[in-house]
Amino acid sequence: MHTVTAADLVDGLQQLGLDRTSEVIVHSSLSSFGYVDGGAEAVCAALTEVCGTVLMPGGTWDLTGIPAPPGLVRPDNAYWNAADWSEFDQKLSEATSFRSDLPVDRWLGRVPEVFRRTCSPLRTSHPLFAYQAAGPAAERLLEAQRPDWPLGPIEALDGDVLLLGVTHTSNTTIHLAEQQLGRSLFYRYAKNADGLWIELPNIPGESHHFDDIEPVLRPATKEIRIGQARVRRIPKDAVLAATRQLIQADPAALLCTDNPECRCAAALQQLISVRR
Ligand SMILES: [Zn+2]
Repeated sequence: MHTVTAADLVDGLQQLGLDRTSEVIVHSSLSSFGYVDGGAEAVCAALTEVCGTVLMPGGTWDLTGIPAPPGLVRPDNAYWNAADWSEFDQKLSEATSFRSDLPVDRWLGRVPEVFRRTCSPLRTSHPLFAYQAAGPAAERLLEAQRPDWPLGPIEALDGDVLLLGVTHTSNTTIHLAEQQLGRSLFYRYAKNADGLWIELPNIPGESHHFDDIEPVLRPATKEIRIGQARVRRIPKDAVLAATRQLIQADPAALLCTDNPECRCAAALQQLISVRR
């Protein structure tokens, strides 16, 4: 099997036209490349060498997330409440208080955690949905996140979405466009840095059918292969515009519609309520 080298990674990113002026949000799957000499460290090094500013998810949901307190019901929220306060207290005691040095959730892939450990990125302190960034615009991007507006860093990004071997189901910029239209705005709960619970609004929902956006974005997409990975660069503004176009034509666009229990159904209901 062909080994992906650091030079292959740098060369590939340069072929996409990225350079030291680029701001990118990166979603990645290390295994998609095949064997990478140097692993996730090599991917992070190539990104920070070629690009100017690199933004990555840095969330800690798996450690800090908790159920909703008993009786606190938000409309169209598709979430579960603890049955009573003793169950809630139990879950709260099992969770970890947010700290900015917690590891990044595994479901975000291997690269963001290695980025955190090896590239000294700045990181926000959102207890569920932190972001991390390195490069000249890092501070500006991260300052755009508030506890009640987790996708602020993507909103502030002046650049591109970079998909390293993942589909648009990992493309959080689609969630930003949904939220701007009044869809996919959920309340979730975490154990805050002070050990107390906190309610956090505007958490995005599911992305089950986000890859349906692919044909619409094809004209705006630059694509190459690095090893076995499909690597794509799409301007952030093109992602926002395409998402808006699809949802304005069909409020259920990019959602799964075959499962009424899914967060997708609740997201659609939120949009319908906004329009009413
Ligand atoms: Zn769904």
